[in-house]
Amino acid sequence: MTDIQELLLSRIRDVPDYPKPGVVFKDITPLLADPAAFTALTEALAELSLRNGATRIVGLEARGFILAAPVAVRAGLGFIPVRKAGKLPGATLRQAYELEYGTAEIEVHAEDLTPEDRVMVIDDVLATGGTAAASLELIRRAGAQVAGVAVLMELGFLDGRAKLTPELGGAPLDAL
Ligand code: AMP
Repeated sequence: MTDIQELLLSRIRDVPDYPKPGVVFKDITPLLADPAAFTALTEALAELSLRNGATRIVGLEARGFILAAPVAVRAGLGFIPVRKAGKLPGATLRQAYELEYGTAEIEVHAEDLTPEDRVMVIDDVLATGGTAAASLELIRRAGAQVAGVAVLMELGFLDGRAKLTPELGGAPLDAL
């Protein structure tokens, strides 16, 4: 493990049985409160995005916004929010995906993504992969290209990575 990985890991708090029994919630608020760790994370994600040839940074609501916005500024790229349905005021593309119980929907402003864009998707945790896969579907439907998906943590035992199929843009997944 690198020094940066050790620093990041040391600033993530495991909260057992939150928000419900059996789930270990990965709380990133200690990391956000530590300027050295937050800066290191921002720089690593910005470097990765530029290395992947990204021209746009997408953040997934809500904790993805906190990480992706400073990454966009640092990389000198535009930030695009992918939000839960019903929050964006303009014309949107909407994508439904499966949850453990029921479905959820996310949206992006249709005008924010064009075929010229290469998009890096950023979130805090990849769990089942449903949210990331749905965001790749939005990017694909907008005709834009995928530069990659980057998360702070991947919960490997849930195999969310398997949902990021080649049909969704062949996105490389990086988990710091
Ligand atoms: P999924 O669609 O299952 O990959 O879930 C990913 C989304 O849910 C991310 O936006 C995470 O913020 C959140 N999430 C899922 N599981 C956890 C967890 N154990 N700890 C913290 N956040 C989680």
